[in-house]
Amino acid sequence: MDGRRHHVFILLISIVPLLGVFAAMILLWNRYFHLSDLVAFVAMYIVAGLGVSTGYHRLFAHRAFKTSRPLRIFFAVAGSIGAQGPALIWTAHHRRHHRVADKAGDPHSPYLDLEPGTKAGLKGLWHAHLGWLFDKELTSDPVRYCPDLARDKDIRWASNNFAWLVLLGIVLPGFIGLAVGHTPASFLTGMLWGGLVRIFVGNHATYAVNSIGHVFGSRRFSTPDESRNNGWLAVLSFGESWHNNHHAFPRSARHGLRWYELDISAIVIKVLEQLHLVHDVIRIDRARQSQRQAVWAPTGGGRFARSTPAKPLAESATNTVGIVDVE
Ligand SMILES: [Zn+2]
Ligand SMILES: [Zn+2]
Repeated sequence: MDGRRHHVFILLISIVPLLGVFAAMILLWNRYFHLSDLVAFVAMYIVAGLGVSTGYHRLFAHRAFKTSRPLRIFFAVAGSIGAQGPALIWTAHHRRHHRVADKAGDPHSPYLDLEPGTKAGLKGLWHAHLGWLFDKELTSDPVRYCPDLARDKDIRWASNNFAWLVLLGIVLPGFIGLAVGHTPASFLTGMLWGGLVRIFVGNHATYAVNSIGHVFGSRRFSTPDESRNNGWLAVLSFGESWHNNHHAFPRSARHGLRWYELDISAIVIKVLEQLHLVHDVIRIDRARQSQRQAVWAPTGGGRFARSTPAKPLAESATNTVGIVDVE
C-alpha cells in the first residue's frame, strides 16, 4: 500500500466506522439489538484486539516472544482485521515512536507543539490520538525501522493484501451474526456491530493509549518520555494501557507488571506458552523492575498533569545505561 492509497484508507477507516456507530445508535434507540449482534461484536473484538496487541505490537514490533509460522500468519491476519494499517507500516511507526518518544521525530507525541495553554494541549491530544494519521508527509520507512519484517514474505503478503483483510473483518461477523440469528437481517447487523462498530471502539482504544497514555495517568518508572499507566483502559486495550510499564520495558511480553494490573494479552501469551505454541517469552523479574524504578530520567514535562516520576533513589551516570531499551 503506497502513501496515497494509505491516506485514502485512513480517511475511509476514520469516517465509515463512525457512520456505522451512528446507524447502530439509531437501531439501539429503537431497541433493535440481538444476541447475534453481541456475539459478532465480542468475537471480532477479541480476534482483532489480540491481533493488534499480541500480534502487531508484542510479537512483530517488540519481539517479546517467538512462535511458529502459522501463528505469525494468524497474528498478521488478525492484526490486519484490526484495521489500523498494514503490519509493516504500523510496526515501522511504532518502533520509531519508541526510539524518540515525545521528542522530535515521534510520529504521534501529544507534546510536539510546545506552546503553553489548554488549546495547544488539546491540539496535541488530537494529534496523538488521530490527527497524526492524516499527516501526508509522515512516513516511517519499514526497511529502516523493521528490516526483519520487511524480509518476511508472510508479513509482506499480509501488508500487501491489507485492504482485503479489513474487508474480511467486516464480512466475517456477518456470518457470525447469521449463524447465531438465522435471519438475513442478522447478517447485516452482524457486519455493523462486529465490523464497523468493533473497528471504531477497538481503534479508539488503541489511539487512546497513544494520546491519553502520554498525558494522563500514573508513572511508576521515570522513563525519558511522558508515558503513563491507565488501569481504566486495560480491558478494552487488552493490557496495552500499562503504557509507562511498557516504555520502561518495551520488550517485556507482559505490560501489566503487578498481579493486579490486568493484562489480557499477557495471559493469552502465557496460555499459548503452556500449550507449547509460543516460546522464548521475555519476562522482567522483580529485581530488574526495582532497579529500573530507581533510575531517574528527565522528561518533557506533563502538560495537563504534572509529571510524577518515581522518586529518584540514585542518579549516578551508570544507572542511566539501558534506559532506552527500544525493541
Ligand atoms: Zn508510547
Ligand atoms: Zn510498543
